[in-house]
Amino acid sequence: MLDWLIVGGGIHGTHLSMVLREAGVREAAIRVLDPWEEPLDRWTTLTGRTGMSFLRSPGVHHIGLDPYDLFRFAGRRRARARRYYHGRYRRPSLELFQAHARDRISETGVADLRVRGQAQGLDRIRGGYRIDTEQGGIEARRVVLSLGAPAPAPEPPWSRQLRDGGVPVRHLFELEAGVDRLLQSPPGRDASVAVLGGGISAAQVALRLLREGSRVVLVSRHGLRIQAFDSAPGWLGPKYLREFHRRRCPRERREQIQAARSGGSIPEEVAGALRAAAVRGEITLCTGVVVGVDCLQPGRGILHLTQGHHGSHRVEVQAVLLATGWDNAPPGTPWLPRAADALGLRTAPCGHPIPDPGLRWASGLYVMGALAELEVGPVSRNIAGARIAAARIGEGAADSP
Ligand SMILES: Cc1cc2nc3c(=O)[nH]c(=O)nc-3n(C[C@H](O)[C@H](O)[C@H](O)COP(=O)(O)OP(=O)(O)OC[C@H]3O[C@@H](n4cnc5c(N)ncnc54)[C@H](O)[C@@H]3O)c2cc1C
Repeated sequence: MLDWLIVGGGIHGTHLSMVLREAGVREAAIRVLDPWEEPLDRWTTLTGRTGMSFLRSPGVHHIGLDPYDLFRFAGRRRARARRYYHGRYRRPSLELFQAHARDRISETGVADLRVRGQAQGLDRIRGGYRIDTEQGGIEARRVVLSLGAPAPAPEPPWSRQLRDGGVPVRHLFELEAGVDRLLQSPPGRDASVAVLGGGISAAQVALRLLREGSRVVLVSRHGLRIQAFDSAPGWLGPKYLREFHRRRCPRERREQIQAARSGGSIPEEVAGALRAAAVRGEITLCTGVVVGVDCLQPGRGILHLTQGHHGSHRVEVQAVLLATGWDNAPPGTPWLPRAADALGLRTAPCGHPIPDPGLRWASGLYVMGALAELEVGPVSRNIAGARIAAARIGEGAADSP
């Protein structure tokens, strides 16, 4: 039986594996279960799709152990280069972040801890847990669920009608490769791609499509909301977390998280690039909600909006890219809620686990990322959340489960 099984080897799971190894957990005693070939593959795929150049978070948030490790890795010369950092928070370029992550993964050897597969069930056994995968069960004294984001937000009801009319509709964060085909060869130079969403990923992918020669219409429920980070920096420490932890009711905590993440904001420089492109007439920014669609001829559709830009309530499109974020249900649906039910684990009305402050959902069973949100707060899904969660889980690494 393993001492530790981390389910999910993205940013969170990989960082935790480094923290546990550093805390003295033997190589043979820990494994990371993940369906992708390499650590961080899902992150690399999704960030690559957006076309983003810089992370939204500052350079102290990365997968290495010491917060200043990325700056050290970049070295003095790079520290001054505009190509590697953006703005006063020294947000690293994606290129630098990835190079640092690759270096630390190779240096610590954590890629060797990976077992390829997907968890499909969780059972309590004598002295620990068994995780079921398509290849059989894996037993461990302690299991950490680090599954990343939930499924992409559900498609709007009109998607099918457009698809039936030959207009591709894809979600930016879907696992299928259809979205990559759409991004790599959008339907013709003079064709319009509608990007739906009001957050940073919608804005970034709209700018990517524009750079690559498409005509783009960005449709958002609201105007551009400028905010440096996903949530205010006060959520990283006691300024806001003291009040958050004072509230015991999970419903109230969920409300605080929703208010803090205030869905759909973008940093100033991305908004500036959008505005400049709109002034040059290269992109159309529409505020409104799609209330219906029509298909004109094969491969051409019309989106009808509640409000329009420059008086227009109709947008003609040849493809639609949904950049509408994530489903509200927690990740791991449907196997995890089933297991939680069977094991009598506490869940909130929103379906998320209610772990203790050490992120234990039950003795020997830990959560990170979206699953730890009701304890870590609004930054839980971010890279900062990985560092907070790994520190708490790692603290008890030497103790009994
Ligand atoms: C485009 C984009 C940009 C972002 N930019 C930033 C940023 O700049 N700063 C920031 O702080 N945050 C950012 N985030 C948010 C967050 O940091 C990332 O989503 C990050 O990847 C979260 O890490 P994770 O390990 O929780 O999830 P992931 O990196 O998605 O890893 C989760 C892993 O778990 C695996 N998994 C899921 N279910 C199972 C299962 N049943 N069995 C086995 N394995 C499973 C998945 O396949 C995946 O490999 C961004 C997110 C996106 C999508």
